[in-house]
Amino acid sequence: MSMYRRLAPRIFVPLYERLSGRRPWTELRRLRELQWRAPEELEARALAKLRPLLAHAYVHVPYYRELFARAGLRPEDIGTVSDLARLPLTGKAELRAGFPLRVVADDAPARQRWLARTSGSAGLPFEFYGDRAASDVWLASYLFFREWAGVVVPTTFYVASPSHLAANPRASPWIKLARRIVLGERVVHLSGIDLGAARFAARLRRVVTKSGYAIWGWPAYLARLGAELLEAGIELSSYPRGVVTYGESLTETDARVIERAFQCRVANHYSSWEILHLAQTCPDNPRLLHVNSERAIVRVVREDGSPAAVGEPGRVVITDLANRVMPFINYDIGDRAQAGAPCPCGRGFPTLMGLEGRVGELIRTPGGKTLSPVALGWLLTHGHRALPYIWEYQAVQTAADTLVLRIVPTDRFTREVAIEIERALTALLGSDITVKVEAVDRIALEPSGKRLIIKSELAPRSTISG
Ligand SMILES: [Zn+2]
Repeated sequence: MSMYRRLAPRIFVPLYERLSGRRPWTELRRLRELQWRAPEELEARALAKLRPLLAHAYVHVPYYRELFARAGLRPEDIGTVSDLARLPLTGKAELRAGFPLRVVADDAPARQRWLARTSGSAGLPFEFYGDRAASDVWLASYLFFREWAGVVVPTTFYVASPSHLAANPRASPWIKLARRIVLGERVVHLSGIDLGAARFAARLRRVVTKSGYAIWGWPAYLARLGAELLEAGIELSSYPRGVVTYGESLTETDARVIERAFQCRVANHYSSWEILHLAQTCPDNPRLLHVNSERAIVRVVREDGSPAAVGEPGRVVITDLANRVMPFINYDIGDRAQAGAPCPCGRGFPTLMGLEGRVGELIRTPGGKTLSPVALGWLLTHGHRALPYIWEYQAVQTAADTLVLRIVPTDRFTREVAIEIERALTALLGSDITVKVEAVDRIALEPSGKRLIIKSELAPRSTISG
């Protein structure tokens, strides 16, 4: 293995870049240096990529041409990143309605695009095209964030649902073989749905060498696995260098359980199927995520589309700077966050705070209060210090005025704890919603394989803005 690690950067990587014409490692070296530049310089660089993208979309994508026309704008009217607020948002519904003719660039050759589908956690699946020419950009972003998490190691476990793992472009047998031969990397996919602690420990003993390993996975599965390891008192044969979560909200509770069980740091990696590898927890400051502004412009906006102030929660709106086949401009991805202040670490990349799950995962009380997964997590962990009593939880709105908090209890859990939690939630949400804490053996997964932290059983309504 060490031979690979010495030879890979000097021989295999330059050879790969020459033969393939792709330069992800060159791009990676650029990112390592750019992260320390001033925010103004990085914004200017993003703007220099944004301008030609807007001009391209205006000429070649009918949907965006009409969007500009309706707003009475031309591409050259967008002179700064905040000018993007003048252009209406685009959601999954619009992209689905216009696919492919109105939303795909009319000059993109068929060989430049790849077709993908996203299950759409808001219940609105849609198809899209990725841009093969953008692979350097997202691959470099992935390599860069991997270094941030300290998980550049020979063996990586992926823990997600089987269908998600199967769809991962890096799961193809060819890419796995290439990683194994060229980079000496081994990738192990494990389905989180039925991954027990004993089976994981056994698998680890068989696969992992002294040179270390990392875990990437969905936080709900990793937290469940971690809770099981702690509960059963299972000692792992070795512990990972780091854990990286993706795919769903990382709550405080889950982060703590994962860190305790795997005895390492956990990084929150923000990536979407449509726009891969966007942002990740700062290596020096777990409270903030940094956005790779070479890859995308990420804004946090109010309901009316205007920019949210630092610390103010809003919708996450993304402009992908690399995909010219099917441009995503001012794309309302369905996530929520707060715009972050500059990070004291000294890196110039923009920041996000309190990244939260989908809009559909919010609970709304009759009185108009909302409860998000992160808010619930904060209440239970910081506000109420309920961590010692709870392995897992899920809040389910069973009726407009009823909220059931399902809890998989530890052996310290008592009826008094349940009553205290009910009181704390009622204090937060108001008395027009009845809160019941219910101890359960397990929390069921959704048909998609995901575990929702917050779930609504009310009649479905559209959560996509028009
Ligand atoms: Zn930072």
